[in-house]
Amino acid sequence: MLRLIQRILFFALPALLGACAIIPRATVTKNTSKTFNTVVVDAGHGGKDNGAYRRYGGAEKVATLDVAKRLDQKLRESQLKTVMTRSSDVFIPLDERVAIENAQKNSIFVSIHFNDSRQRGIHGFETYYHSAGSADLAYRIQSKLMTIPRSANRGVHTANFRVLRLAAYPAVLVECGFLSNRAEGGEARDSEYRELLAERIAEAIVEERYGPGVYHGSAQEAATQEQSPIQGPGLVPATLRR
Ligand SMILES: [Zn+2]
Repeated sequence: MLRLIQRILFFALPALLGACAIIPRATVTKNTSKTFNTVVVDAGHGGKDNGAYRRYGGAEKVATLDVAKRLDQKLRESQLKTVMTRSSDVFIPLDERVAIENAQKNSIFVSIHFNDSRQRGIHGFETYYHSAGSADLAYRIQSKLMTIPRSANRGVHTANFRVLRLAAYPAVLVECGFLSNRAEGGEARDSEYRELLAERIAEAIVEERYGPGVYHGSAQEAATQEQSPIQGPGLVPATLRR
């Protein structure tokens, strides 16, 4: 009897392990960066998962959701279909995010995060991707973020993050500044600054799909700034940024 069990395990176990290994394997990414009609907008963290939590910037999950919602709206105004992985303060496991991401055919995936470091002086934007077909989108988003006054460029990098590695379509993850940095943490709490972040990311996405000059959100933004005597983003003096 023991022998039989051993024999069964001997043959069955590798088969089982093999089956498990198939599911999380990196997918062959289809490059839809010039054809996509849907954007999956992913607000990092949520629910029991705060993400980073810092005195200046508060909980990462709050800032990511707000930027993601603003981005979602801007993309819909630009005639793109959108799907959000979460639209409230709920915990969504990474594999569920991947499932939502890959269920949308002819799509791209954009994940919104804020950064954290033990060194409070570190600040700036970073954009991550995994598949070669995602690089163009990543660079475009990063360069649009660099048009924000006093922004610091920490570069575009490849990473093995689960939502990027397992993506069936182009996928990027944007780190919208460091909550651990006094200036950027303060900005992350500012709704006008979040609006600006969403604006730049939306502009990059629309340009990636339709080419430069097509995005009209900037004109609306300029109009609202004209009406308001208060300066938009950038309430934090430049001297605080190092
Ligand atoms: Zn995060």
